[in-house]
Amino acid sequence: MITIALSKGRIFDETLPLLKAAGIAVRENPETSRKLILGTSRRDVRVIIVRAADVPTYVQYGAADLGVAGKDVLDEHGGQGLYQPLDLKIARCRMMVAVPQDFDYQRAARQGARLRVATKYVQTAREHFGAKGMHVDLIKLYGSMELAPLTGLADAIVDLVSTGKTLKANHLKAVEEIAPVSARLIVNQAALKLKRSAIQPLLDAFARAAA
Ligand code: ADP
Ligand code: MG
Repeated sequence: MITIALSKGRIFDETLPLLKAAGIAVRENPETSRKLILGTSRRDVRVIIVRAADVPTYVQYGAADLGVAGKDVLDEHGGQGLYQPLDLKIARCRMMVAVPQDFDYQRAARQGARLRVATKYVQTAREHFGAKGMHVDLIKLYGSMELAPLTGLADAIVDLVSTGKTLKANHLKAVEEIAPVSARLIVNQAALKLKRSAIQPLLDAFARAAA
């Protein structure tokens, strides 16, 4: 059995065409089904639905052989025990620093102001500001980062941005790009050795479809 870990929403939706290219059709829709283990058109392949941030953990421990996770999630996780063979080029966005529209971020950075930064991506933010030599106080949040500067919780946020509409709706502006983000295929290292004959054709089909 090959187990593939996916998260609901964007990752699931954008992975479906890649699975299809590999000859795999998922039997259920996770948006309407309450099932967390989904059968596929292949008896030896199943899909499990987990939180986006949990995908690397399932694959790391071998509870899933393969998974699809954003680079944002992988950078926070650290990637231990994972083989990352492929950028699937789906779920693309950018990791950005954003501040209120009337805040002069460049000036604050130049003056060495100590900023409070709210984010779900504490590791990524720590590395980014550390490399810039900026002193920041990081505040860990689990969602709705845009609210932090509006309520006085933080001066800035580090979050994913695609269109920028959410920032705009909350009177924020992106001021710095930390990294481009896309979803990656990840593989459990032991599974790749033990189940190579089953896994390699999937990797090849994904690689062709993502190219
Ligand atoms: P969650 O809210 O549980 O993090 P999402 O579906 O919002 O789940 O995000 C899953 C993954 O999709 C993220 O880890 C990231 O890689 C990617 N992603 C998040 N936001 C965006 C976006 N606005 N545009 C494109 N990809 C995104
Ligand atoms: Mg989200």
